[in-house]
Amino acid sequence: MEVEAHRCAFGERAYAMKKHDATHLHYDLRLEWNEVLLSWALPDGPSCGAGVIRKAIEMEDHPKANILFEGEHETGTIMLWDCGTWKPYPESADIEKSLRKGILLFTLHGEKLKGDWTLTKTNTTSHARPIWTLCKHVDAFAESYTSKCVLKELPNSISTGRTLEEIDRDWKRPKDKHELQIRLF
Ligand code: MN
Repeated sequence: MEVEAHRCAFGERAYAMKKHDATHLHYDLRLEWNEVLLSWALPDGPSCGAGVIRKAIEMEDHPKANILFEGEHETGTIMLWDCGTWKPYPESADIEKSLRKGILLFTLHGEKLKGDWTLTKTNTTSHARPIWTLCKHVDAFAESYTSKCVLKELPNSISTGRTLEEIDRDWKRPKDKHELQIRLF
């Protein structure tokens, strides 16, 4: 079964949050910029409450074409957990400069994550990768995150509704009988 992503209304700057069942289950933040996806790995996921700070490990830029990918990867099963668009604050509009300075203020217009966030670069690294923090601002969306953590309330894929186990199962399943026959012969 070919599973098509839907509901991702990408605009000028695409945003995606992947859920990645690797050695440790974690989330991956992707922000489209300059023909690539800026990427941070979130070992504990995004914060569910205002002012809650979460670790965000800077990763190499990812190809834009991968933004909707859901399936098996050599590192583990990948789910498209949330998607939408993002927009820098006016003071972070020069994104290259903001990345160099190590502070990026932005708004997420996701299906699950909404409102304002700050990424701040720290002086520490993990395996030579810069460590940032991701903080949810106090805004109209923050309270609902506190009372109902979307990570727990809405754990499945935004595009297909599948769990990690279902994505894994579908990936291993022969696509149709024809393919099954090819495999058998
Ligand atoms: Mn990952």
